[in-house]
Amino acid sequence: MDSSAYTWQALACTACDTPDARFVLGDSDRPEIFVCTRCPTYRDPNELATTLAPLQVLAVHNEALSIGTPRPPEGLTAYTKGIVELADIKGLRPMWRTGKARHELILSSAGPHGPSGCIVVGARTGKVLRGQITHGAGGSTTSVQGTNEVRTLLAALTQSACPPFCRASTVEACP
Ligand SMILES: [Zn+2]
Ligand SMILES: [Zn+2]
Repeated sequence: MDSSAYTWQALACTACDTPDARFVLGDSDRPEIFVCTRCPTYRDPNELATTLAPLQVLAVHNEALSIGTPRPPEGLTAYTKGIVELADIKGLRPMWRTGKARHELILSSAGPHGPSGCIVVGARTGKVLRGQITHGAGGSTTSVQGTNEVRTLLAALTQSACPPFCRASTVEACP
């Protein structure tokens, strides 16, 4: 893994909520367990990994357990950046897969019944080319062409209330 390809954020402690709290390898009986530097809370990275967005990674960075998010590619237009922000607001956890000819912005809701999809951006122009959204696992897919239509598609989505590890059997049965 090339760590410079990611932006790193140390995992925060939601238990003690101390700003400088970090999770470091502790002296517990289980060597893979990380312990908060400010309170007795501990975290198992294998459990945490299941809550990450696709393309995010979990690693030790500056000795603290940290979440790595792929860096955005260079040369994006302001309009494209606005679309990324919109995807973020809609709970789509936008993540970049940077390529030579084109970049892909991978979209995924936290829960299985929320929308997911992909937006394709030209690497040379930094402009959105096309996008598609699938409305929940096993749901229908909408594909659109061009920057404006992609923005309209995202703007029409309502943020999903589907929780991670939702147990509903279908999108309709989801809370
Ligand atoms: Zn803590
Ligand atoms: Zn659900």
